Amino acid sequence: MLIVMKPSATASEIDAVVTVVEAVGFRAHPMPGATRTAIGITGNAGPIDGRRFENLAGVAEAIRVTKPYKLITLDLRPEKTIVQIDGATIGGSQLAIIAGPCAIESREQAFAVAEAVKLSGARFFRGCVWKPRTSPYTFQGLGEKAWEIMTAIRNEFGLKIVTEAVEESHVDLIEKYGDVIQIGARNMQNFSLLKRAGRSKLPVLLKRGMAATLEEWLLAAEYIMAEGNYNVILCERGVRTFAQHTRNTLDLASVPAIRRISHLPVIVDPSHGTGTAYMVTPLARAGIAVGADGLMIEVHNQPELALSDSAQALTLSQYAQLIEEVHAIHQLTGSEKKNT
Ligand code: PEP
Ligand code: MN
Repeated sequence: MLIVMKPSATASEIDAVVTVVEAVGFRAHPMPGATRTAIGITGNAGPIDGRRFENLAGVAEAIRVTKPYKLITLDLRPEKTIVQIDGATIGGSQLAIIAGPCAIESREQAFAVAEAVKLSGARFFRGCVWKPRTSPYTFQGLGEKAWEIMTAIRNEFGLKIVTEAVEESHVDLIEKYGDVIQIGARNMQNFSLLKRAGRSKLPVLLKRGMAATLEEWLLAAEYIMAEGNYNVILCERGVRTFAQHTRNTLDLASVPAIRRISHLPVIVDPSHGTGTAYMVTPLARAGIAVGADGLMIEVHNQPELALSDSAQALTLSQYAQLIEEVHAIHQLTGSEKKNT
């Protein structure tokens, strides 16, 4: 059920509807928009009789939602969501660049990369503190020792810190030291982790699972939003196919497909999407051309020595060149057109 308020509805009329929704045992999700507020309702097992809401002051209509999603949809919020992190945005007219090494390895490594990221004009620094690795015998991340380095980078460069929560307890630490909670491909359907992130005040960057359909991915976002966290950023990072020329097959068609269904911002990760440095820049260009709100790029001061994802890391100069090129493409394709 979705309750659409009249454009003239007052804040107290909206509050009154929320009170009734809660009084009958459901959860209300008010979404203010440019012309009207809509209130999504979750927590109901079956259909709700919308007539009880239609006579309330300020209500335009109560609409039954037949799709599996209730909160990610353009029906609830026709305008794009712009995620704001202290003046840095994802989903607005500016291209959002999240760049950094796969993992934080040392202070020297992280600082060298962060300096280049800052110089490029990017606002977000990525780097795993904890690494979900395929093999238990490979580098698992520095763990909590990395937070000291991350904190120094945040203070010195003013970059926003994006890192992956591999388990629920990690969310507590990201809330303490970081700015954006990343949920990785391997955890896209870790529902208790999604719910924990949904109870956080920090934005959540939700990567697509390596075998997830668009619907499964969007329903994972729905898990986060159903807990009350509406700041979700989707990240296309490729899916497993029969192709052997890339690590994953980057599904760029997911960007316009999401635009048609959802108000959430979507970014593209050509690093994990290809797994090979020479393909990262061409696919980054394509990601922006296809309308993504930003990119996640892995970059390393010495890619050949990287402790994880070495083959896909760009050098500092390759990264600088990529940024220049994608900004040129973004200007051509225009975010203004995309937002209308
Ligand atoms: C990462 O961003 O370093 C990562 C592990 O990505 P993914 O979850 O997409 O594999
Ligand atoms: Mn990586």
